[in-house]
This record gives sequence, structure tokens and C-alpha cells, in this order.
Amino acid sequence: MAGGALLIDTPGMRELGLVADEAALDESFADVTALIPVCRFSDCTHVSEPGCAILAALADGSLSAERWQSYLKLQRELAFVVRKEDPAAEAANKVKWKQIHKTQRAKYKHRRDEEGG
Ligand SMILES: [Zn+2]
Repeated sequence: MAGGALLIDTPGMRELGLVADEAALDESFADVTALIPVCRFSDCTHVSEPGCAILAALADGSLSAERWQSYLKLQRELAFVVRKEDPAAEAANKVKWKQIHKTQRAKYKHRRDEEGG
């Protein structure tokens, strides 16, 4: 192409609403994914951490809030797909919630016992 411009064609990505492929997510949001390793903490949630590269980019306008939100949205959808296609991850998730519910039930029972049933 003249001037070395690169044409990135993403037909129907919005309409599809789902990119069930992490590589595609990384490729479409290369500017966002490039920022993530720059964050001070490797487990950064990009919400309120100090030294967060995402928050800095949002603040100085080099990353638009809209783009960041669409990245988060696609990432959530991708995580959902991965969970569905990965029985081990799904099972681990169920065990986790079962444990949480068990803890909550134990709390309630304890309270009832204190009140005399
Ligand atoms: Zn961050």
C-alpha cells in the first residue's frame, strides 16, 4: 500500500460480539495488551492500582475509555467461553462456589444456634 499504511480488516467483529480466540483479542487490542505488562504489579486489575499503565493511558488520553471498556467486555466473553470449553476450570469454579456457600451456611447456622433455634 502507498505510504506503507496497513489496512486492518475486522469484518463484522462488532456484530459477532464474540472473539473466542485469545490471539484474536491480543491482535485486535495490541495497543491495550502492550500496556498491561507495563503495570507495576503483575496481578494489576487496572482499577485503582498505583503505577497502572492502563490508568495512566486513560488519564493522558492515549487510550480511550471506550476502547478499554470494549477490551474488558471481549475479555469477559472470552473467559466465559474458555470456562465452558474447559471442564476442569468449570469444576474448579464449582468447588470454589460450593465452599463459599458452605461457609455462608455455617455462619447462618451459628447465628440461629445463638438465638436458640
Ligand atoms: Zn494496570
